[in-house]
Amino acid sequence: MSDNIIVAIRMRPFITRERDSTSHWMVEQMNQIRQVNIDDKHLAAYVYDRVYDQVSTTEEVYNDTAAPIVKAAMLGFHGTIFAYGQTSSGKTHTMTGDKDSPGIVQLAVEDIFNTIENSPEREFLIRVSYLEIYQENVVDLLGNLAKHLDIKENYHGTVFVDNLKENVATSVEEVMAEMKKAEVNRHIGATKMNERSSRSHTIFRVIIESHLRTEESGKSDDVDDAVMVAHLNFVDLAGSENAKQTAASGQRLAESCAINKSLLSLSLVIGQLSTGSTFVNYRNSRLTRILQNALGGNSKTAIICTISPASLEQTISTLRFATSAK
Ligand code: ADP
Ligand code: MG
Repeated sequence: MSDNIIVAIRMRPFITRERDSTSHWMVEQMNQIRQVNIDDKHLAAYVYDRVYDQVSTTEEVYNDTAAPIVKAAMLGFHGTIFAYGQTSSGKTHTMTGDKDSPGIVQLAVEDIFNTIENSPEREFLIRVSYLEIYQENVVDLLGNLAKHLDIKENYHGTVFVDNLKENVATSVEEVMAEMKKAEVNRHIGATKMNERSSRSHTIFRVIIESHLRTEESGKSDDVDDAVMVAHLNFVDLAGSENAKQTAASGQRLAESCAINKSLLSLSLVIGQLSTGSTFVNYRNSRLTRILQNALGGNSKTAIICTISPASLEQTISTLRFATSAK
């Protein structure tokens, strides 16, 4: 178990088409009993760092799980926030948000620029990138969608995506505009956007670079004027139901194999990190390879597992993944 990895569960409310369903689930966050219970018939209880019920807000989720990671990133520590769950359980609602409710990305970016405003002694440079991993191919959502990018490692051992655009942004609005640009780009590039989005992973990355302003660093000999660079990754994972598909063939089979591979290797990597294993298998998938530098060590990770009140089997599978991550 590691303090650097927080595992949270968020249950979304019923949506219109599920109006007549009944929920098997009870989510409790009272007196430190942070557990998810299944009804009497399927009795089981799962305990996590945090659990959020149907009436929770993204702000609450953000404040407990992501805000500490953003804070650490402003001090130079890498961080990654994952949304894991079956399709339509609320990953994108939580991470990207929609017109009625800002997502974790926007709340984080607001925090980042507030901190910058309150830190006149440091000079900051904020850059953003946005990539998609579809069938183990890496595509730049801010660049040419027809190109597949390579993953490389420099002589410091830092892993990077070659030719991935990193666009400078100087305000919350500029960051959100980049994100929007990528979403539009993605809609134009992919014919069946909704289907594709459930079968691909996206990583929105905010790179926070800063150093003490020269007039400050000249004041004393012992001030640290090193440049700090932290990566903050927001990862919207492919729908976890794809990882179990057995009856698939053709294109679908290729897609589920790729998803299987990356979700399983993510689960393995997180498991190795949380048990303090000396060897971590980052190389098994593009997803874990790209995130290699930002997982482990002093970096911080949150996994927000989204569940639907209407589905039993998929939810149990998500809860199992969440349990194995701690
Ligand atoms: P996913 O990205 O996991 O496939 P979405 O985020 O697209 O799922 O959510 C599916 C639907 O449920 C959307 O219409 C979304 O607006 C709604 N939804 C998800 N989570 C919540 C929530 N916590 N509160 C209200 N509506 C939600
Ligand atoms: Mg989604």
